[in-house]
Amino acid sequence: MANDCLFCRIVRKDIPAAIVAEDAHCIAFRDISAQAPVHVLVIPRAHISSLNDVVDHAVVAQMHALAAQVVKAEGIDQRGFRAVINTNEDGGQTVFHLHMHVLGGRRMSWPPG
Ligand code: 5GP
Ligand code: ZN
Repeated sequence: MANDCLFCRIVRKDIPAAIVAEDAHCIAFRDISAQAPVHVLVIPRAHISSLNDVVDHAVVAQMHALAAQVVKAEGIDQRGFRAVINTNEDGGQTVFHLHMHVLGGRRMSWPPG
């Protein structure tokens, strides 16, 4: 836990978030600035700054396991969705607590900006 980390504060429920799913390892909540009809962030409960800082890569599978539940619950699994982890400056990361964006409910374009 990092005291000054926004997403650690959401994990601690110090600040509110629209949590849609949680398990022992991760929590999933709606992005405050949704870029699609469904835009959920899946984060590990433990503080890890970015994908570069992952030591035990099982955490990424744990994030994906919760994301898989979320896309089914949101009804976007069959039409499709995008799961993305922005990393550092070129990746467009702005919050330095590892998170997977899960976006769906509209057609995505490629390549991403
Ligand atoms: P990044 O740019 O680091 O890949 O993604 C960070 C995401 O966190 C952004 O999409 C942003 O809208 C979202 N975000 C930032 N602050 C908050 C917040 O306080 N609550 C929630 N639910 N999402 C946030
Ligand atoms: Zn954190």
